[in-house]
Amino acid sequence: MTEPRYLTDSTARQFEATVERALDDRVVLDATLFYPEGGGQPADQGTLTTDDGRWRVVDVQKNDTVYHELDPVGETEGLPAVGTTVTGDLDWERRHAHMRYHTAQHLLSALLLTEFDAPTVGNQLTTEYARLDAGYDRFTDEDLARIESRMNDLVAEERPVEWYTMDRAEAEASLDPERTRIDLLPASIDELRIVEVGGPTGGSGDDDVYDRTACAGTHVANTAEVGDVTVTGRATQGSGKERVTFELE
Ligand SMILES: [Zn+2]
Repeated sequence: MTEPRYLTDSTARQFEATVERALDDRVVLDATLFYPEGGGQPADQGTLTTDDGRWRVVDVQKNDTVYHELDPVGETEGLPAVGTTVTGDLDWERRHAHMRYHTAQHLLSALLLTEFDAPTVGNQLTTEYARLDAGYDRFTDEDLARIESRMNDLVAEERPVEWYTMDRAEAEASLDPERTRIDLLPASIDELRIVEVGGPTGGSGDDDVYDRTACAGTHVANTAEVGDVTVTGRATQGSGKERVTFELE
């Protein structure tokens, strides 16, 4: 199994790993920082380099384990051999944009639930914009202005964002089921990764925690890193479902 270092370290951009399997145009490594597409967050891209070759990582998918799809650069042919040590470098601009958008999406999900009683039912982010689908009848222009203003408040409050694992039974007993949606996770998952948006910097502590959600994506460590949020629009997605789109500066 590949050690998923993208789950623990959101600041590292480079890593070394050993090729465990090579098949067609894909390799499996013993560890990786490359995030595999999932949860509305696109796959990371970047490069793998060895002493005598270089490959672009064009896609990363997780099935039984994490597969890196490679495209040889220049004179390089084939794939790095099994047992070879490779250096992986993330396309950091892309990843960091995904982390900012993903964190902003947590803020939006939490505030729509708290202030509009609108649960998130879907989301997709890119490096340029993000959209979120929520169970709600119709957001007015005033609603959208309020949502934008509240998201920017949460950014300005410089709230810490932390992630940790929690036993599923403990999570089910102690977390708000409407937020964490543990019921949607496969029964085989017995340990959850919780992402927590904390209280404002200078606040009074645990009572100020804004959101706790089960999530396996990548996030920035403080809401300040999200930057200015602009809500760019809404559209109906059928009865009782609204899509909100937003962009970050
Ligand atoms: Zn997340």
